[in-house]
Amino acid sequence: MIFARYEANGKTALGVSNDGRGFVDLASVGGGLPADLVALIRDFGRHEPAVKAALAAKPTHQLSAIKLLAPIPRPEKNVFCVGRNYKEHVEEGYRTRGQATKLPEAPQFFTKPRTAIVGPDDEVPLDPKVTSALDYEVELGVIIGKTGKNISQAAALDHIFGYTVINDVTARDLQRRHDQWFKGKGIDGSCPMGPVVVHKSRIPDPQGLNVTMRVNGETRQNSNTKHMIFDLKVIIEQLSLGMTVEAGDVIATGTPSGVGFAMNPPGLLKSGDLMEAEVEGIGILRNRVKQVG
Ligand code: MG
Repeated sequence: MIFARYEANGKTALGVSNDGRGFVDLASVGGGLPADLVALIRDFGRHEPAVKAALAAKPTHQLSAIKLLAPIPRPEKNVFCVGRNYKEHVEEGYRTRGQATKLPEAPQFFTKPRTAIVGPDDEVPLDPKVTSALDYEVELGVIIGKTGKNISQAAALDHIFGYTVINDVTARDLQRRHDQWFKGKGIDGSCPMGPVVVHKSRIPDPQGLNVTMRVNGETRQNSNTKHMIFDLKVIIEQLSLGMTVEAGDVIATGTPSGVGFAMNPPGLLKSGDLMEAEVEGIGILRNRVKQVG
């Protein structure tokens, strides 16, 4: 099951697909399926038979005829994020600052406001009044399927609905100036999400996915989710410790090495740059940087 939110003929739809090329509009199959992915996820046990029946129907829309949108454009709360979750990315950060590497001993959580979310092919604004150090970070995005608290590692994967791609766009100068990550990672347009949500049944091993970022066709980041310092089980266990994680919540699970600020010379983003964030088995999330203001 591949879920996409999209615009077709001036209307917004939620569709499901077997192959990611032809989508069945869930509103076209009856059964009172919600047009909102979070609503569908919350009650997926009840809706699953109707979704499966929709998958057997003839596609109502071909990918070439629709504009994909962010699958969860306004989650109920901020997007949860894990910082510094790949060893080589931690090392490049310390190296750039001329410091010795110290690996995190627990997941470093922060959030991005939902107002930062944009969809596939949307422009990412670069306002020179706001930042002169915009950077990219490809990440595996986890969509929570089952609400829980104090979730054990053994149960963690049962709480996942599916996966998407997130580009944790970051204003490095704001990140440094405010000595805290929320501001530099929270500006409008800094959370591209998509192109689709792939149900977990299609991703048997989420810790074996290639993760890549290309900028103008040049590969900048190229790793695999097996290199996470804290895997999805630990992330969900630690995030849910004493804190309710709800169906429809989104978690960005950290970025591998190769970010622009750590390159020599730095490879920060400029207007016109095309970012292609890809996670194996999910798809390519493309966004172009556009100067505004
Ligand atoms: Mg990140």
